[in-house]
Amino acid sequence: VLGSTGAFLYVTRQATHPGDQLPDDPAKPTVVVLGSGWGATSFLKNLDTEEFNVVVVSPRNYFLFTPLLPSVTVGTLEPRSIIQPTRYITRHKKRRVAVYEAEAQDVDPIKKTVTFQDLSDIRGAAGSVTIPYDYLVYAVGCENQTFGIKGVTEHACFLKELSDADKIRTKLLDCIETAAFKDQPEAEVDRLMHMIVVGGGPTGVEYAGELHDFLIDDLKKWYPEVADRLRITLIEALPNVLPAFSKQLIQYTESTFKENKIDVLTRTMVKDVTDKSVIVQDANKETREIPYGLLVWATGNTSRQITRNLMTKLPAAQTQRRGLLVDDYLCMLGTQGIYALGDCTATQYAPTAQVASQEGIYLAQMFSKIGQKNKLERQLAELRASPNAVAEEVEAVVKKLNRASKQTPFHYSHQGSLAYIGSEKAIADLPFFNGNFASGGGAAMLFWRSAYISTLYSVRNRTLVMADWAKVKLFGRDVSR
Ligand code: NAD
Repeated sequence: VLGSTGAFLYVTRQATHPGDQLPDDPAKPTVVVLGSGWGATSFLKNLDTEEFNVVVVSPRNYFLFTPLLPSVTVGTLEPRSIIQPTRYITRHKKRRVAVYEAEAQDVDPIKKTVTFQDLSDIRGAAGSVTIPYDYLVYAVGCENQTFGIKGVTEHACFLKELSDADKIRTKLLDCIETAAFKDQPEAEVDRLMHMIVVGGGPTGVEYAGELHDFLIDDLKKWYPEVADRLRITLIEALPNVLPAFSKQLIQYTESTFKENKIDVLTRTMVKDVTDKSVIVQDANKETREIPYGLLVWATGNTSRQITRNLMTKLPAAQTQRRGLLVDDYLCMLGTQGIYALGDCTATQYAPTAQVASQEGIYLAQMFSKIGQKNKLERQLAELRASPNAVAEEVEAVVKKLNRASKQTPFHYSHQGSLAYIGSEKAIADLPFFNGNFASGGGAAMLFWRSAYISTLYSVRNRTLVMADWAKVKLFGRDVSR
C-alpha cells in the first residue's frame, strides 16, 4: 500500500497541467468518443491526441471497474475505490480533450454529426447540442435486458452502474433492519430475508457469492436475531449456471453453492414480478409464487435506444438486432468514419470487458497510424511544392506513408475468464490450464485478487481497493446504510 501510494504521488506530480496542453487545431480532424466504459477508456488511454481534436461525450464522467461492482453491494469495497474520473486520463494527453457529461441522443451517419444533451438534475441554459465529427468512436455499451417482463424495471435492482450497487446495498440493509424490527411477523421476516438473484451468468453468480460472504462474515455478528433466516436463491432458465464455462467449473460452482446453502433453481424462468414476489415457471410448465425481500436482476444485456435508432438508419448494412455489425477493422458496416467497439457491437466475441479493452487498444493504434499518415501527407505535399526537394527525401516519405497506410485486422487474444463464487473460492477458465482451473482457499482468492488489482487502471484505484480489503479484514464491513 505504501509503495502504491508513493507511486501514485509520483504519477500525480508528473500530470500534465491543462495549460501546457496543445489547444484545439481546426486543421486537424475531430474524433468524437461516445462512452466512458471499457472500450472508450482503453481507447482514450492509448490514443495519441497530437493529430486530432478529441471530444468525449458520456452520461457519467468516470470509468467504472465493473468486475468489482458486486463487492460494492455488500460494502466490501467503497464505491469511489473502483471509479476513475475520465479527466484523470485526458489531462495526461498532449492536446486538450473536451469531456462533456451528457447523453448522446442521435448520430447522423450521413451528415456526420452527433447530438447530445445534459441530462443532470441541475440543468444549465444549454439545451441539446449538435457537433460534427470526422471520426466517431462509438462505445456506448448496452442496457439491462428485461425481456419485457412485467414489474422488473419497477421492483428489481440491476447490477450495472455504481448507483445500482448503492441501491442494492441500501435495500439489502433495509430488508435486514425491517426483518429485525420488534414483533415483525414470522412470515414477513422470512420474506424480507429472502434474497433472489435472477440470471445464472457471471454477474448473478458473483453477486450471490458476495451476498453469502456478507452473511457469514458480518450478518451473524451484527444481526444474530435474523441472520439464520437469510436465504439466497439463484434462478436460472437454462439447465445450469455459467453456460459459458466448462462442465467441471459449472459443477464446482454448483457444489460450492450447495455447501453455502445458496439454492439454485435451474430450468426455472421468472415470468412476472410484483413488489413482494416473483412468479416462476419450472421445466414442467408449473408456475408458483416466491416471496422476496431483495430482487437482483442479472439476465444479460440488450442494445440501447440510440444504437437501435442508428441501425434503422442503415437497414441494408445493419441487419443484426443483437448489436452493430463491424468489419475486421471495427469500422461500422454501411458507414465511413464510425468505429464501434464493446458491448454495443455484435461480433463473434462474447460481450466482455476484456474484448472491449483490447478493441480500444487496437483502435488507438489504428488512429496513431491515421495521424501519422496525415502528418506524412502534409510533409509530402510541402516537399513536392518546394523547388529544393531532394528525390531521396520524397521517396523516404512515400515509403513511410505506405507503411502507415497498412492496417492489420483486429485479433482478440483471450486471456481467460475469472469469477468469484464466494467463501474465498474463485473459478478461472485459463487458456494455459487447458481452460480448467478451479480452486478454493487462500491461493485462489490471492490469484483472483491479484488479477483484478493488476487490471485496475490506476495506482490510485489499486491503493484504494487494497486499503478497503485490509479495512474489511480488520474491522469487518460497515453495516450502516
Ligand atoms: P449473461 O447473459 O451471461 O447471463 C444471463 C442469464 O440469465 C442467462 O444464463 C439466461 O439464461 C438467464 N435468464 C434470462 N432470462 C431469465 C429469466 N426470465 N429467468 C431466469 N433466468 C433468465 O449475463 P451477465 O451475467 O450479466 O453477463 C453479461 C456478459 O458480461 C457476459 O458476456 C459475461 O461473460 C460478461 N461478464 C463476465 C464476468 C466475469 O468474467 N467475471 C462478470 C460479469 C459479466
